[in-house]
Amino acid sequence: MKLPKKIKILGIPYTVKYVNSQLKIGDEDEYLWGQTVYATETITIYVNSRSKKSVWKTLLHEVLHVLFIEFEIENNDKKREAIVTQLATGLSAIIIDNKFMEY
Ligand SMILES: [Zn+2]
Repeated sequence: MKLPKKIKILGIPYTVKYVNSQLKIGDEDEYLWGQTVYATETITIYVNSRSKKSVWKTLLHEVLHVLFIEFEIENNDKKREAIVTQLATGLSAIIIDNKFMEY
């Protein structure tokens, strides 16, 4: 399945950008595989030589972040990140293992 350039989440069209350079957080020595900017409705995914499955998992992860914001699911940052990561891992495994999506 082709990676989407636009993805509608609860009626809001997000633009999805795929980049080959790592996404850096501020001045810290920390990098992200995906990042969502709610103000501009933009999701950026680091691709480079990553597998399509891994890229899809990151996209799903970012979509879940949007849902958490839209549904106002409150958690501290660390816990929210852990839950989003677990859900993205579980859901992407189900989608892939059941061949709901072809690669
Ligand atoms: Zn995250």
